Amino acid sequence: MSIFKSHGEGKDNPLMQYVLNNSMREHPALKKLRLRTMEHSWNIMMVACEQSQFMANMAKLIKTKKALEIGVYTGYNTLSIALTLPDDGVIVACDVSEDYTNIGKPFWKEAGVEQKIDLRIQPALKTLDDLLSDGQAETFDFAFIDADKGNYENYYEKSLQLLRKGGIIAIDNVLWGGKVVNPSPDDQDTVAIDKLNKKLHRDARINLSMLTIGDGLTLAIKL
Ligand code: CA
Repeated sequence: MSIFKSHGEGKDNPLMQYVLNNSMREHPALKKLRLRTMEHSWNIMMVACEQSQFMANMAKLIKTKKALEIGVYTGYNTLSIALTLPDDGVIVACDVSEDYTNIGKPFWKEAGVEQKIDLRIQPALKTLDDLLSDGQAETFDFAFIDADKGNYENYYEKSLQLLRKGGIIAIDNVLWGGKVVNPSPDDQDTVAIDKLNKKLHRDARINLSMLTIGDGLTLAIKL
């Protein structure tokens, strides 16, 4: 029985360990990348592994061929999604740090899916605008937003344009450690997340679920 080395609340909780031990089906390269990422000083930025597996299952359920990821870090979730894509599938992965993404690259290669990962090192808004001006609106099946919180609303709006009907946008950290319940006005990240949460609640362009997995995950399904 393996003990999952991960992070976040509940990871030392026996019930959470039971869930992980009895549900995680990590590809060996994913497991190695998770353990490698746990050695990194900013490992709190890695998505919870059970959340990543859930999103990969969602992506597969809607037969994702084109995926978008905004915020790669070491590329654990990038690899998790890439492993569910068909041979001609692609994930456009947006980040500004080569230092972080270089940690994941050897594991993408080991898993044999590096050719499905289109990594773009530049501000994600630039990449999203490039995709839109390249005529790729309404062609993506799945998007994951997990980057700077101040731009969350911009990422959401552009991802929604890039998504086909029935596609899913997954948004991470929507509970922000619980701070969204009573946001301090000078806490700009919390204010931005709370503002987007409230906007999505009223947004008639999507169906919506807010899940308490990880640090909170919103699923917005484009109508
Ligand atoms: Ca996150």
